[in-house]
Amino acid sequence: MSDRSDGGDGDGGDGRGGDGGYGGADDRRFETRAIHAGQEPDPETGALMTPIHANSTYEQDGPGDHRGYEYSRTGNPTRSDLEANLASLESGSHARCFSSGMGAINTVLNLLSAGDHVVAGDDVYGGTHRILTQVYDEYDIETSFVDTTDHDAVRDAMREETELVWVETPTNPLMNVNDIGALADIAHEGDALCAVDNTFATPYLQRPLEHGADVVCQSLTKYLGGHSDTIGGALIVDDEELDERLGFYQNSVGATPGPFDAFLVLRGTKTLPVRMDRHCENAMALAEWLEDHDAVERVYYPGLESHPDHELAAEQMDDFGGMLSFELDGTLEEASTVVSETEVFTLAESLGGVESLIEQPAAMTHAAIPREERLAAGLTDGLIRVSVGIEHVDDMKADLQAAFDAALS
Ligand SMILES: *Cc1c(COP(=O)(O)O)cnc(C)c1O
Repeated sequence: MSDRSDGGDGDGGDGRGGDGGYGGADDRRFETRAIHAGQEPDPETGALMTPIHANSTYEQDGPGDHRGYEYSRTGNPTRSDLEANLASLESGSHARCFSSGMGAINTVLNLLSAGDHVVAGDDVYGGTHRILTQVYDEYDIETSFVDTTDHDAVRDAMREETELVWVETPTNPLMNVNDIGALADIAHEGDALCAVDNTFATPYLQRPLEHGADVVCQSLTKYLGGHSDTIGGALIVDDEELDERLGFYQNSVGATPGPFDAFLVLRGTKTLPVRMDRHCENAMALAEWLEDHDAVERVYYPGLESHPDHELAAEQMDDFGGMLSFELDGTLEEASTVVSETEVFTLAESLGGVESLIEQPAAMTHAAIPREERLAAGLTDGLIRVSVGIEHVDDMKADLQAAFDAALS
């Protein structure tokens, strides 16, 4: 693992304003911090909302004598406010924002050097699997993909060269729940970092740093943005030195978000708690309805007692989230008809917006996996994944019922 840190590079050292750390002593509750952490009225005008600092460079009073900002790839005040907000919500000291979730994930992988080894879940997000197998593998950084619910398998996969254990929970699309504390311990026994992709749960439901993880990754595109109107990513840590190392790559690689995107995500985080409460409530009601439905073989939602990881989810999470999958008692074609017929649920990839989305993993998000492998992993032809929105749940049920009637007549 390399340990370069930011020495400054002419167009910006650590010029990102503020006093370095952010989180600190804010012991207000999550809902209050969602709205106020990192958010002071603009000192110049009193404007309540963080201004969109559409700006690339900053006046210096003398060479190197600046007011916290030099150049917006390195630091931008709108982005800084978002970073402070996210650090607080994830119970971290520092956050770094990126132009996408993948930009954030790439920056964690930038910490690795040729010859290093990664252990990752065998059901991680497709983009994470792709960057590990098709980008970093070429740089002689090998990944072992294992069932991260099987801790012996994770221990067996660890090598002398293992520098990173990559965890996702709940996972996509079967909502497997991984034990963050146990996996962080295994990583640390092997002197590796433990990174957790917390996109599905959000910090409102689960804060991996509190369980011992070293880095939290977020696709801000999903629940944190919350309105399907921007792409973004973030890394949150509780360690200044690790933050500086990530900051070196953030600035060197340059996958940083513009101030408009940072503004949109800040607008989203303010309502995260109320949105998530409704997402969770609707998902639970829909999961129970589906579990009782004749057209449905099986429901995967960690809030159901029938879910194999229900107890762990109840311990680790404050609620069970807005994502669920179910197996239609039918063929690939019939499942395709269901997802094409719904109207309240829009047929689309992605998740985490206020509107409900529906998709068929075997034909869409997981279509690249060969059928045999896909079936072995439990991703059947009739599997349907939904991102449960915040519309009225009775309209969702009526919509699915009409689609079932059309597909299974
Ligand atoms: C969407 C997603 C990503 C990638 O984020 P982008 O913003 O699309 O780059 C990573 N992890 C998970 C779990 C995701 O859902």
